[in-house]
Amino acid sequence: MSESKEFGYLGKSYEAEVPDTLDLAQRAELAMHGIAGTTDPDNDYLMWIFIYWQNNPPYMKHGGAADIECTPKFYDSMTLLRQICGSKKYLDTELGMENALTSWLNKDDGLFDAVYSPERPWHMEHYPDAKTKKENYAMLCPSGIMLTAMVVRYDLDPVRYEAAIRGLVDGLDKAAVKKDDYAYYPEGDSGHSFAFLRSVGGWKKTEEAKSDRDGLESAATFYQAYQIRGLAMWYARTGDKQALELAGKLVRYAMKPKFWGDASNPEHVVGYQQGHFDFHFHARAAVLRALLEYGLVTEDTRICDFVRSSYEHMRSYGINQIGYIPCAPPRDYLEPCLLGDLLALTVKMSRAGIGDYWDDADRVIRNHLAEAQLTNLDLLKRASQAAPVSEPEGQPGQICTENVHERMLGIFGTWLSPTSSYDETWQCCTGNASRGIAYAWDGILDGQDDQVQVNMLLNRASKWLDIDSYLPYEGKVVIHNKIAKRVSVRIPVWVDRSKLQASVNGTDRKLSYVGSYVVFDDMKKGDKLQLDFPVAEETVRLTAHSGKGREGQKPYTTYTITFRGNTVVDISPRNESPNVYPLYLRDHMKAKKTPMKTKTRFVADKKILNW
Ligand SMILES: [Zn+2]
Repeated sequence: MSESKEFGYLGKSYEAEVPDTLDLAQRAELAMHGIAGTTDPDNDYLMWIFIYWQNNPPYMKHGGAADIECTPKFYDSMTLLRQICGSKKYLDTELGMENALTSWLNKDDGLFDAVYSPERPWHMEHYPDAKTKKENYAMLCPSGIMLTAMVVRYDLDPVRYEAAIRGLVDGLDKAAVKKDDYAYYPEGDSGHSFAFLRSVGGWKKTEEAKSDRDGLESAATFYQAYQIRGLAMWYARTGDKQALELAGKLVRYAMKPKFWGDASNPEHVVGYQQGHFDFHFHARAAVLRALLEYGLVTEDTRICDFVRSSYEHMRSYGINQIGYIPCAPPRDYLEPCLLGDLLALTVKMSRAGIGDYWDDADRVIRNHLAEAQLTNLDLLKRASQAAPVSEPEGQPGQICTENVHERMLGIFGTWLSPTSSYDETWQCCTGNASRGIAYAWDGILDGQDDQVQVNMLLNRASKWLDIDSYLPYEGKVVIHNKIAKRVSVRIPVWVDRSKLQASVNGTDRKLSYVGSYVVFDDMKKGDKLQLDFPVAEETVRLTAHSGKGREGQKPYTTYTITFRGNTVVDISPRNESPNVYPLYLRDHMKAKKTPMKTKTRFVADKKILNW
């Protein structure tokens, strides 16, 4: 790759006075801070996969295969987040990461390699049962992640990425095991699942998985998912038939009935037909994203239906109203990786008209995703200081203890209950949840020529119009029009429509609905459109599974949760331990007057956020 550092990020910045409410552009910049701060410039810009923020002292640790597999997610995230906030910080990190990652695309077959280096004696360590060697492996899942990341960046600069992308597509095609009308990447028996040893030139074993739980990660279809999604994205841009054909074969494998179904399905529910599942929700949701991409690109209604019913089954777990869905039953925790998936699925399905999941997306981003981001330095320090002293252990170069809390600000937790984030961060979650910020931000509105659809009432700048959201303090949204002639605004389910009022430049407007959207025609440059409505405040009791339960008690906890609109402003009972990072410290959101702030808004010159 070339040394040009600015890539193609261009846009305009301007000052504005805006409500000091959830600001995804600011969250994006903070996530970039955390990503850059937990990336190791002295070790090929690999992430430290483990961040022990709650340990005393706090430290970061490299984790071998997990670093190598997840760093491409940071790379993808940097691309998306930078387009949202327009920050010019961390370009050195982004370039260093790109140069390192693309140098590991194998010169012969294009696949992404885990390259052995004496600087990383831990090399492929991570899974307890892995028996890997200190030599190079081709990694199929990160090859897929690199493909998705480079296809998005292709929109920034086609010349820079095209050859590497075509090489990857060809490599993925040659590495796939093909049978009948389907294809797959096998477990392989190389010591690390779904990777093959370069020294033996490929897969040692090529049997297909017997169930989704095969392999060290217990997620056989996940190891096909990124490849499918990247291939479908590439086909959509270029019409590359090789990519489409391979994606189709991998989809037919991933949709085999043996990989689907929920053990608790009633007799009359054919779970595998509905895409039901009951384990490793993030891995399954990543497969759903892949199937959805392929289903949309090929206009395959059957596949889109499968994704929809699968999503709806998943959302019946936990307390979906706040985005808390336990990820790995029978255990009780939410891994924020899933929050990124949920936003991708809800935004894409809603956009495609497969369902209206905008309120689901709004609840996830306002609640558990916003809370999963570690933004409060004092709370991090409190958690660490409350722990007994425990010195970090690791090989030379594997551990970092310098300014951990300061430099990690903006990354995400990994183990979330409804009210707390506890134990160390695994950075897969930062990679996936930070991309969730981008998916939500992108979903806020859709613009085409002079027509705009506002899907979620969140702050946002765009070339068509800017949105100021006063939620959850006040039921007020102000839209500053730039170039739109027709503006449609989706009204959330909780708003009492009989009390909704709208005005343009202070003059009342009659409301005209199309479905859930109020439509305003004849908008002019510089118009100020304002919507006012009461904020519904509601306290409800919602129950989630929580551990095994003591003798004679059911294993559930009922939470009392106060919502203002879709935003949680209080929840109890809480985890009062000082060694956790508490969620939902939101007393300030109970005020009725919105705080304001001055901020720099950014609008990218062209739409390049096509994820
Ligand atoms: Zn994770």
